[in-house]
Amino acid sequence: MDDQNQTQTPQDKEVQIGKYKVKVIRSMCIGAGTCIAVSPNIFKLDEENKAIILEGNTDTEANILMAAQACPVRAVEIVDTETGQKVWPI
Ligand code: SF4
Repeated sequence: MDDQNQTQTPQDKEVQIGKYKVKVIRSMCIGAGTCIAVSPNIFKLDEENKAIILEGNTDTEANILMAAQACPVRAVEIVDTETGQKVWPI
């Protein structure tokens, strides 16, 4: 796989995508891959079988939220930076 144009984030780093700040809680991630199935532009499994967020890519806010909601262990956190409110998990 060639990800030369994409920067992989360090652990639990928040990444701004549109108005959302998105973060994977790596200690919770079980590598189920559901987030990747929903939003492959944004999520990817690393060599530890944990989800990482691909910086510099984009997706619709609705699809990113759907990817977070699809995670069986609620390991994806989203904060709306316009309101300062946590959007998921709630
Ligand atoms: S869906 Fe959740 S558990 Fe599965 S890879 Fe994504 S963050 Fe990890």
